[in-house]
Amino acid sequence: MLLNILTYAHTLLRESLKEGDIAIDATCGNGHDTLFLSQTVGSAGKVYGFDIQEQAIQKTQEKLQENNCHNVSLIQDSHEKIPEYIKENIFGGAIFNLGYLPKSDKSIITKPHSTLAAIEAILEKLKTKGLIILVIYYGHAGGLEEKEAVLSYTSQLNQKEYQVLQYKFINQQNQAPFLIAIEKKKRS
Ligand code: SAH
Repeated sequence: MLLNILTYAHTLLRESLKEGDIAIDATCGNGHDTLFLSQTVGSAGKVYGFDIQEQAIQKTQEKLQENNCHNVSLIQDSHEKIPEYIKENIFGGAIFNLGYLPKSDKSIITKPHSTLAAIEAILEKLKTKGLIILVIYYGHAGGLEEKEAVLSYTSQLNQKEYQVLQYKFINQQNQAPFLIAIEKKKRS
């Protein structure tokens, strides 16, 4: 059976993340992925969750509390500042959900420059066989530019160091989201 985009994102991360890993939710949004990462790396691991909106951080905090998760640091700041906040040297994996927070201000969106800066910062410290998952929503104003920037950057990553997968349903209407997975083949 073909997995939908979000289920496939979690399937890939579940296979590559280990208990005790450092994991990053670069765009907490409503906290769905933050909770998943928290449960996947377990109490020996640690999750850093970023979002620029207070509303997203609060929702995520609530979700974590309801589920008794105590291994997450939530940071209300841009993910491009990851190097300022995360001092550990090896990251197990990361996920981004691009676009705007559902049912919220559609003008507060992830942007090409900061998205690529965050991806670069994570790639520098990603473990061998670690993954960055990008779930790319692009139906909103500004979405196409970001999609193009991310595709251009990721498709030019050196194939000796990274494998890059695109997972996309090609007969869907309405600019349905698709997934890019970047896997580190060896640490540079
Ligand atoms: N489009 C997805 C959800 C994306 S949520 C869906 O429909 O399910 C994207 C989140 O990224 C928002 O909560 C937004 O506040 C956050 N965000 C935007 N720019 C950011 C940045 N530079 N750093 C961290 N988070 C950011």
